[in-house]
Amino acid sequence: MKGNHILAMYFHNPSKKEFESCIKWLKTNGFTFLSPDDLHSIITENRPLPKGAVLITADDGWRDNESNLVAVADKHQVPITIFVSTEAVEEGAYWWSYLDKAKDLKINIPAKSSLKLIMNDKRVALINEIKRQAKVERQAMTVEQIQKISKSKYVTIGGHTHTHPILVNCRREQLYNELDVSKQKLEAWTGKEIKHFAYPNGDFSEREMRALNELGYKLAFSSEPRQIGIAELSNPYCLPRFGLLEGASLAENICRMTGVWKPLMLKFRLPELAKDENTTIESPVYRSNKSESLLTS
Ligand SMILES: [Zn+2]
Repeated sequence: MKGNHILAMYFHNPSKKEFESCIKWLKTNGFTFLSPDDLHSIITENRPLPKGAVLITADDGWRDNESNLVAVADKHQVPITIFVSTEAVEEGAYWWSYLDKAKDLKINIPAKSSLKLIMNDKRVALINEIKRQAKVERQAMTVEQIQKISKSKYVTIGGHTHTHPILVNCRREQLYNELDVSKQKLEAWTGKEIKHFAYPNGDFSEREMRALNELGYKLAFSSEPRQIGIAELSNPYCLPRFGLLEGASLAENICRMTGVWKPLMLKFRLPELAKDENTTIESPVYRSNKSESLLTS
């Protein structure tokens, strides 16, 4: 772990205790904490990779991130990046949370894992049917929270699309709209340029990388569990990250980070995806696999 590579990791909605124990472990073991801007300057200035460096991120923008992540980052003076989906900030909940309501409403809807594999228009239509009839309590941060945490010098806010679709399942104009709308909203809320991005569910294709570049994003993170070495820096739009399993022990998560689990995880890769009849799904460079579906959202 202390070689010439960077360990980028992602959380979603960890408890304060699990996040702080992870930060303390990394600090005690002498890791150097990098922000995405630090990583971007390493790339653009062609500087050597620091030894034992770590980059901490969290996806979605969960309401409790303010007290559980930002408070810890401020206390320990370490940089963290939170990738925020803007529709959930405005509406309160993430699309997959409406699935729990389907049964009560007697709406027959495929499982979350299946919805991640169909065209985005179809998924949106199914979720909207539930949204019209059900309410879900707030899960995401409010605009005021985003404004507040973005003032911390340890916090970087990054993009995570507007509606959190699986981007490879989107039509071209949907893709550009997702990346552009969320960037503009976050920039208006924080007063800062939004330069970095994390792919929802970690899935992307060549098309997504091109679009991010065109729209002015500098770095993009996937959920492929590898370290960032020299080779990975050649393409700043597919930076791998390790997912931290929330609710698991710190020991298990250290095993994940150090790659002890990796040979096991590879056994569970999904078979080739079945083709949807009228699909125009982009051929993915990376899709998260079954073992990572515990981690991705
Ligand atoms: Zn997400």
